[in-house]
Amino acid sequence: MKNIVLFGPPGAGKGTQAELLKGKYNLVHISTGDVFRFNIKNETELGVLAKTYMDKGDLVPDEVTINMLEAEVDKNVDANGFIFDGFPRTQSQAEALDGFLNTKGEKINGMVALEVPEDLLVERLLERGKTSGRADDTDEGKIRNRFNEYNTKTAILKDYYAAKGNYFGVNGVGSIQEITERLAKVFDTL
Ligand code: AMP
Repeated sequence: MKNIVLFGPPGAGKGTQAELLKGKYNLVHISTGDVFRFNIKNETELGVLAKTYMDKGDLVPDEVTINMLEAEVDKNVDANGFIFDGFPRTQSQAEALDGFLNTKGEKINGMVALEVPEDLLVERLLERGKTSGRADDTDEGKIRNRFNEYNTKTAILKDYYAAKGNYFGVNGVGSIQEITERLAKVFDTL
């Protein structure tokens, strides 16, 4: 299996790029944000809970997120591998993911990170908010809080994967196609 964590701050282009790359490598794309939004739309118990955090730009608690992610992986028993988008976002999530994959004789082949300067990210998110219908993309205060969550809880995961020789940074500034090509060069080696 090829299991890749597509990493980067909010607005880096993870979702867009995962959709373009999943077909090329025959991988299942799991976006935890999309799964939460699906649950919110369908007013499930999980959705009602997740909404209280997401509306503020806060992270959803680890236990809830980890259980959900594991259930999503288990829905795809025949998968050739996964692109994890928006997960892990904390050290506990990363450790849980390693442990979970290990029980299946699998591992993360690499964390591939889209590197984009923060001022460009805010611009991209506000632009996306005009059409995405996402409340957390339209309010600059919420966007700032999402960056704060990223900087204080998520960014450290670079070190977690780098310590295993598993971190691959990619320049996330350029056209969508240019960035897909840069990512594919790394995916090919994993
Ligand atoms: P995203 O679509 O990845 O930007 O995620 C949108 C929101 O969903 C985040 O701001 C969090 O509130 C929540 N979320 C998504 N993935 C996670 C995760 N791995 N851990 C905690 N919260 C998450």
